Amino acid sequence: MAEEKDYYKILGVDKAASADEIKRAYKKVAIKYHPDRNPGDKEAEEKFKEAAEAYDVLRDPEKRARYDQFGAAGVNGAGGFGGGTQGMDINDIFSHFSDIFGDMGFGGFGGFSGGTHRQSRPRYKGGDLRMKVKLSLQEIATGVTKKFKVRKNVVCPYCHGTGCEEGYSPETCATCHGSGYVVRSQRSFLGMVQSQEPCPTCGGEGTVITHKCKHCHGEGIVSGEEIVEIKIPAGVAEGMVVNVPGKGHAAKHNGVPGDIQVLIEEEPHPDLIRDENDLIYNLLLTIPQAVLGDTVEVPTITGRARIKIEPGTQPGTALRLRGKGLPAVKGYGYGTGDIVVNISVYMPESLSASERHAFEEMKKSGNMTPSPSIKDKIFKKFRSYFN
Ligand SMILES: [Zn+2]
Ligand SMILES: [Zn+2]
Repeated sequence: MAEEKDYYKILGVDKAASADEIKRAYKKVAIKYHPDRNPGDKEAEEKFKEAAEAYDVLRDPEKRARYDQFGAAGVNGAGGFGGGTQGMDINDIFSHFSDIFGDMGFGGFGGFSGGTHRQSRPRYKGGDLRMKVKLSLQEIATGVTKKFKVRKNVVCPYCHGTGCEEGYSPETCATCHGSGYVVRSQRSFLGMVQSQEPCPTCGGEGTVITHKCKHCHGEGIVSGEEIVEIKIPAGVAEGMVVNVPGKGHAAKHNGVPGDIQVLIEEEPHPDLIRDENDLIYNLLLTIPQAVLGDTVEVPTITGRARIKIEPGTQPGTALRLRGKGLPAVKGYGYGTGDIVVNISVYMPESLSASERHAFEEMKKSGNMTPSPSIKDKIFKKFRSYFN
């Protein structure tokens, strides 16, 4: 490894330089030592590479922080140029910093795609749309199709996305003969270098529009509205995002439309509490119901279910209605849920004289106090809810 370099010194900035100052300083150094200006000058070439290496580190706040703390060792092998000038390829410098070389007027090397083997022309991509949808537990249980009126870019109805006035169609670009790129030969210290870049005439499309559609000004898209149907699968949960491909903004010149991302919000159910795919219901029994037993109804997502309460049911008992919870949704790891009925017992807050008398009588009965073995059994059951 070469001896420690001072990246700040190389660019001629001080340690507190802002990102903008660094960018400007790099541009200055790069112009000064640019190979086109210094043909055959090995020293200039070295300085040019050094500056690129320094800029690669200092323009990235994370790399810069590591460099400040650990020196060049902190940024070596962390992507980019790996710190050593030996490993740097002049083409990399041009393509990595095309944002700077692009406006320096030197014509980057393959700044468009970074390679010289580009085959296909770029297709435009429409933007994505994001929306929220609030669902009831019932809708979540069954899955639901929702309709939305969406404001977005739509394909121009007059030219059907071509961008051309009626009777015309896009013509093959005369500059690039339809390929979308031009090959530039450039003399550099590496010899003649050929590079490919997007055609300046057609912007890489390979075609030009001679008579633009007046409605979309040749773009092939206009702002509009569309009713979009979105299918939400069963079992989704608050915070999940359902992606609907192709329903977002239409793209210029019949390119690939964007997606709609739907964020799921869950409406709380009045009675049922969701725990993953289980639904918890708190059943409040009266003292006689818990003591004597009963048959009661509990709410489910689709209606009500009858359950039997055994005589002597203890508060805190959990009864499970298997498979009555929410369905499993593919890819989210929960199985089909249950309804879990948690038993509580209502204690009257005021008593009539006769009720008070009845309770006083009961208090005298030995049956009202659990035996040690029953106490133990109740405790074991209670403990099992937490395991
Ligand atoms: Zn149009
Ligand atoms: Zn062209």
